[in-house]
Formats: sequence, structure tokens, C-alpha cells
Amino acid sequence: MTVHSIITIDGAAGTGKSSVAQLLAKEIGAGCLDSGAMYRAVAVLAKDFDIEPKDGPALATKVNDIGISFNWDNDPPAVLLGERDVSERIRELDISGIVSSVAKQPEVRAVLMDQQRDIASRHPLLVTEGRDQGSVVFPEAIVRFFLEADLEERTKRRTKQLQESGKDVHPDVIAEDIKNRDRIDTTRSDGPLICPEGAIVINTSHQSLAEVVGEMERVVNEALELK
Ligand code: C5P
Repeated sequence: MTVHSIITIDGAAGTGKSSVAQLLAKEIGAGCLDSGAMYRAVAVLAKDFDIEPKDGPALATKVNDIGISFNWDNDPPAVLLGERDVSERIRELDISGIVSSVAKQPEVRAVLMDQQRDIASRHPLLVTEGRDQGSVVFPEAIVRFFLEADLEERTKRRTKQLQESGKDVHPDVIAEDIKNRDRIDTTRSDGPLICPEGAIVINTSHQSLAEVVGEMERVVNEALELK
């Protein structure tokens, strides 16, 4: 029987989850799941099929019809809606603007949670990041991390990330987007963004990516040895 080990990284937008998760996964030879990409893919479905972001049942049905998956041969894994690669589309600002409303719907969360658990069952070692991975989806994770950072730093990072990918964005617009998503993500009744019980909290505001990942890697290696 394969023994599965899961490492979760929870935290808000711009705390460094994605970069940290990708690097940590590489260092320890694990798969890496960006659960936010799945919620963003559902937001693309809402736009494409003109479904109200608050219509959870219709969105869940559409997810089941079209299918969300990852191409694990790409680095980072490509996000697919059916056969279509939406890896770039999901990062657009109009998608960011509705994704938290979509992610608030319990029907959507239920479908994606099942898919995330299914993905984990196919990876002996998985680093997964998002808002509820340690608190709800994988309470059995061997290590749970919670990342924090100041709003100013988070805004700077997100703006740089988007500008580097060729998008013309203003920091004020990004700060508003982050604040708006924080508000919806922390106050929803189903799987709100919280610090999971027993999680190791890391404030990434004044640490480099290498420092944060180094600290996490030590903790994970210790946990894997003890397993
Ligand atoms: O991680 P990212 O910022 O791309 O996530 C986009 C949105 O998806 C978040 O603002 C949140 O509303 C939702 N999300 C979620 N649960 C997760 C991951 C993301 O609700 N596990």
C-alpha cells in the first residue's frame, strides 16, 4: 500500500503561497497542487457560460460536465477546462474579481474538495496550497503551514507578478482586489480562510523566498523522518 504524505500551505493572496509551494515541492520531490487555480477555472466557466457567480448548483453541474484537470507534465502544471488550457486566462483581473463569489458557494466547494482529495490519492507526496487545504480538505496532513504578510507587501508582490506577465495593472487596483477577496474569503460560512489548528505560522513580509522555503523544508524533512 502506498503511504501518502500531504503538506498544506494556507494563507491569503500575496502571502507567497504559490511560489513557496512550487519551490518546496521541487526541493522535496513532491507534486504541487494550486487549489486556487481550480476555483479560478470555475470562475472562467461562469464567464464563458454566463452563469451567475452565486449560482452554486449551476456552476457545480458545469464543472462536472466540462471537467477541470491539470497537465502534470508542465511546470507548473497547466490548468485545463475540458481540453482547453486556461492557465493564462485564470490570472486575468476579471476572473480575480469574481472568483471569491464563486468560491463562496458550498456546491462548488464540495465538488472541488472531492477532486482535490482524488488528486492527493494519486500523489504519494503532495504540497497543496490554498485557503482551506489544512483546515478542511486535508486535516490529516503531516505538516500544516499558514503564511501571513503585510497588505503593502502582498500588494507589491501581486502587482510585480502581474506586471511581469505583461499585464498593465495599478497597485491601488490590486490592493482593492486583495482586500475584497480577503473580506469574502474570511467571512464565508463554508471553509473560510483561517489559521488551521496546529499550523506553523510564518510571516513572509521580510523574508526571502529561499529563507521561507529553507525553514519549511527543515520542518517537513523532520516530519517525514518521524513518519
Ligand atoms: O490562490 P488564489 O489567490 O489564486 O485563489 C483565488 C481565489 O480562490 C481565492 O481568493 C479564494 O476565493 C478561492 N480559493 C478558495 N479556497 C482555496 C483556494 C482558493 O476559496 N483552497
